[in-house]
Amino acid sequence: MKITKADFVKSSKEIKDLPSGDKPEYAFIGRSNVGKSSLINMLTGRKNLAKTSSTPGKTQLINHFLINDNWYLTDLPGYGYAKTSKANRSEFQKMIRSYLKERSNLVNTFLLIDARHKAQKIDLEFMQWLGRNHIPFAIVFTKADKLSSNQLAKQIKTYQTEMLRQWASMPPYFVSSSVSGLGRKAILDYIEHLNTQLSNHFSKK
Ligand code: GDP
Repeated sequence: MKITKADFVKSSKEIKDLPSGDKPEYAFIGRSNVGKSSLINMLTGRKNLAKTSSTPGKTQLINHFLINDNWYLTDLPGYGYAKTSKANRSEFQKMIRSYLKERSNLVNTFLLIDARHKAQKIDLEFMQWLGRNHIPFAIVFTKADKLSSNQLAKQIKTYQTEMLRQWASMPPYFVSSSVSGLGRKAILDYIEHLNTQLSNHFSKK
């Protein structure tokens, strides 16, 4: 898919503030510092569309971008951040979870995982929750350039083994680098494929 347009739509603090759900939507989520803003900028080919966060967890907003006037890319706040109160955090987690459960035009959620790290409890639990709630997701292993191809293959294999202790099969997954652009085509093709499949559904809206 060629990205011809990428426009910021709005930042929402609450579910009621979200833009209308008239187009297919793809959400990006992960622990803070996983490389989410960099990935969004890499995918859209815009340097500063998503703001790389200097203060992890500071901006607890759902950011919507409209791509090619055709689909929404949603930047969800990072989880597992430290610099906010516990009460604030859980309130916010509730909001994200309501968004994921209730956003009826949400086609897929991309869960970002730093390719260098071994499986983390917070991510595995979040995947379990997505599964229980029948929320489709795919994994994106980020920062692949920081590993050699051998190390990368080994890391992904280990991650798969860990996941398959809880899952019958792996969800779709991608390997990305915001530095080299690795993964860009595969992720955008995946989105395009889903958009095509759903074009009837959304054109009737
Ligand atoms: P976010 O908090 O998830 O939005 O993460 P950012 O996109 O702000 O990235 C966090 C840090 O990781 C920054 O210093 C980025 O430059 C770096 N980073 C992000 N993606 C990559 C990548 O693919 N490769 C490398 N080498 N560094 C990355």
